[in-house]
Amino acid sequence: MQAEISEIFESIQGEGILVGVRQVFVRFARCNLACTYCDTHKNSKFCRDYVSNRTLRNPISAEYVSNVIKSVKVHSISFTGGEPLLYADFIKNVEKVKPFYLETNMTLPDEAKKIKNVVDFVAGDLKIREALPNCDYDEIVERTIRSFKILRNRRGRLTFCKIVLPDKFELDEVVSNAESIKDYVECFVLQPVFGHKNIKILMDLQKRLMDIKETRIIPQVHKYLGVR
Ligand code: SF4
Repeated sequence: MQAEISEIFESIQGEGILVGVRQVFVRFARCNLACTYCDTHKNSKFCRDYVSNRTLRNPISAEYVSNVIKSVKVHSISFTGGEPLLYADFIKNVEKVKPFYLETNMTLPDEAKKIKNVVDFVAGDLKIREALPNCDYDEIVERTIRSFKILRNRRGRLTFCKIVLPDKFELDEVVSNAESIKDYVECFVLQPVFGHKNIKILMDLQKRLMDIKETRIIPQVHKYLGVR
């Protein structure tokens, strides 16, 4: 089993409720969405493995990734992207020598089913309409709800919902969509886009969401620290 991976590196988790834990990040190269604020460079020709200090031509085997993650002492392995659920079959084939942490846009429920018994932590997105101007947004939300149902928070798996927010967005719509997934998550995390200038709207949203579920505002800490 092989996958297109753009980089493998060791760092701290900079987002969400596990912020600060040490992880190996396996960043897949492709994504099925094109969010307006996306800052991920999706290189697919080569994989830069910073753990072993090697550059390899894609695709990379699950066996190679298994060997890399065996060699490091970390809290967990973060499968990120791009969109890791595009590579669900690959992830199933990686040897689980450490807990698996999935960072996903939550829009591929059929792929989510394949790894629902493999992942220990799920940082799942609820996308806002403003982030996806060229998509059928209602369909995206419907797939997101299905994905959260499949990868729901339960004993043995911690699932939370991350909502990335720019300076302006439709607050009522975010609350209404969050209502649909509140039963499947530990909590909501409001993540301002880096350089956000409207903290008031985030505080207002947090206040509204607190009526239905624990909600935290957590920025991308790794960017403030200047680490990868
Ligand atoms: S889901 Fe993530 S990787 Fe994909 S386009 Fe959106 S921000 Fe970028």
